[in-house]
Amino acid sequence: MADREVKIIAVLAGDGIGPEVMKEALRVLDAVSKRNDCEFEIREGLIGGAAFDEYQEHFPQATLNLCKESDAILFGSVGGPVSELDKPKWKNCEINALLGIRKAFSFNVNLRPVRVLPELSKLSPLSAEIVKQGVDILFVRELVGGIYFGEKKRFVRDGMRVASDLCEYSEEQIASVSHAAFKAATKRRKKVCSVDKANVLTTSKLWREVVNEVSKDYPEIELEHMLVDNCAMQLVRTPSQFDVILTENLFGDILSDAGAVLPGSLGLLSSASINQDGFGLYEPPGGSAQDIVGKDLANPIAQILSLAMLLRFSFGYQEEANAIELAVTKTLRDGLRTADIAAGGEKTVSTSEMADRVLSYLAF
Ligand code: NAD
Repeated sequence: MADREVKIIAVLAGDGIGPEVMKEALRVLDAVSKRNDCEFEIREGLIGGAAFDEYQEHFPQATLNLCKESDAILFGSVGGPVSELDKPKWKNCEINALLGIRKAFSFNVNLRPVRVLPELSKLSPLSAEIVKQGVDILFVRELVGGIYFGEKKRFVRDGMRVASDLCEYSEEQIASVSHAAFKAATKRRKKVCSVDKANVLTTSKLWREVVNEVSKDYPEIELEHMLVDNCAMQLVRTPSQFDVILTENLFGDILSDAGAVLPGSLGLLSSASINQDGFGLYEPPGGSAQDIVGKDLANPIAQILSLAMLLRFSFGYQEEANAIELAVTKTLRDGLRTADIAAGGEKTVSTSEMADRVLSYLAF
């Protein structure tokens, strides 16, 4: 028998509900490895407040080294109670840990899937009629360029305070994230909507030009361009029209957060940040949910779906990723609800009960 390939996963559970939901995601990983011809090696590391307790730092060198020696990172969440954010343990915890790790690996592509199940339409701010048409979108956002990273100036002119933020994009930055979007679309419904403000911004004009050039490598993908103001409107009016939404940093920040409210709970959302070498970090976009820590209330689905993304995008394990996502869908269709997704009067289950049902469907 050929040697089994060992993939190393850095597991950074972090703070709050992070360790609670990570425990369930690792049970799912264990189920995957039992049938898969690939072996996973889990290496756990400290991040956030948990790292501060040991190293007085939120993103210590030991964790950085651990990540560098891994094939992918599975991240939980970081941060303390909002009332304690001035204490040294929690001060700037999220910025130091999250931005630190993003910077260390130059993650330039952010992927955020948003799907609204008809069974959960009561939770969505969208009407049941709109949800019924299907909401299944992948936001692909450029993460290290644009206005957030351009030169920042503040000065006084003619006795008035003035501030400016430079927005700059190179064709290489645009091409890199565009390839990620088109590649993702090949495994989905084969549509990319590139969002910009090309009627006003020079960076958007270049964005459109480069996206058009990259699209020539993907003739099977249907490409359309949409202005960001129109996209914001369409996202709540007819979200079923979108498959992959490709956009720059600032627009992506705003649009993906608007998209994040559509399913009705942060406990259902996953995300990935990937760099040009294909190395990735996978995490629920929600935080450490201090209001429910230790109560067995956290929804493990966000972390489990983040694991599915890791298997798909870092290791190319489509079958396993699909199986996990299907198991989650079946679990929700069965009516299992943690407190965050229970409509009035619905019976709720605990964190581990939700994961138990997902595991029961993972018969590969
Ligand atoms: P939060 O995302 O932690 O919580 C917002 C609401 O969503 C809460 O009511 C919480 O209970 C709920 N929620 C989030 N994930 C859930 C899940 N899996 N299951 C059930 N409910 C869930 O945001 P917050 O309360 O503003 O922040 C708490 C801490 O998290 C802060 O210290 C903040 O800095 C940090 N934070 C971290 C990240 C991250 O690690 N990526 C992101 C956002 C906030």
